[in-house]
Amino acid sequence: SRTDAAAINHGKLQTSDGVPILLSINVNDPWEIASIDAATAAGIGLLRSEFAVRSLADTANEDKQFQIYRRALEWAGGKPVTIRMLDIGGDKPLAGLEDDSGAMGMRGIRLLLARPEIARVQVRALLRAAPFGNLRVLLPMVTFPSEIDDMRRIFAEETGLLLRRKIAHRLPQIGMMVEVPAAALMLDTFDNAEFFSFGTNDLAQYLAASARDGSDLSAYRDKAAPAVVRLITQAMTLAAGKPVSICGDMAGDPSALPALLAAGLRHFSVAPAQRPAIGSALVGLNADGTRAAGD
Ligand code: PEP
Ligand code: MG
Repeated sequence: SRTDAAAINHGKLQTSDGVPILLSINVNDPWEIASIDAATAAGIGLLRSEFAVRSLADTANEDKQFQIYRRALEWAGGKPVTIRMLDIGGDKPLAGLEDDSGAMGMRGIRLLLARPEIARVQVRALLRAAPFGNLRVLLPMVTFPSEIDDMRRIFAEETGLLLRRKIAHRLPQIGMMVEVPAAALMLDTFDNAEFFSFGTNDLAQYLAASARDGSDLSAYRDKAAPAVVRLITQAMTLAAGKPVSICGDMAGDPSALPALLAAGLRHFSVAPAQRPAIGSALVGLNADGTRAAGD
């Protein structure tokens, strides 16, 4: 039946007119995947690693991080697992790294590059986990290509360190969240990103100038949805044929799917609880976002 369309084929679906679609899951808690059947998803489209790092002490715990990433890769059995580097700051504070600059300030890759000792631990854990599956590393809150160059330099240096220590490792693909409007508008300048993933939660907050942790402003962010879709549609034309997905909450809203399909998106990553409804909605639509005949 249409309802379990996503479940029957490892998250590989087709629109009503036969265009292939991937449906992956977002993982917020690395422990929750134990109760999820990997056969229901194309992979993990977003693993929010701040949930693997619950304290300042954890930021220095390479082995704890390595075990968690390895478990996610083994769970996926060779399907892509997209682990996002720490997005600390803004709506995701960590005790001991307090900073009152908020959503517009020191968070995500900005904080990682300002505190490279934290980035280096995570990079080593990721490099060591990579041989256990199909790892893709996602960088949060990227604004400029130079930030990716800086993080790639850290990957290269830590690779050198692991080589000298004869520790098994592999360099994963490195891509970026598209969640800062300046990056979305300039997507064609990110030669150093191997894949893109749209973060509509942050895009909406920045486009509507409405903080996402201020619940009274949620109506502003909701009303900005057409602006978010327009920006995504423009950015899709700048993606240079690289793999693109969407992992923000908009992907889990069935009413947004026609516009996202029309923009050209073919890979959706949603919370596990939303996967069946989104799967059944996608197979009832044509790839141009129109509703299938007779539906
Ligand atoms: C987003 O911003 O849409 C996103 C997926 O990341 P997060 O919600 O973790 O900031
Ligand atoms: Mg975000």
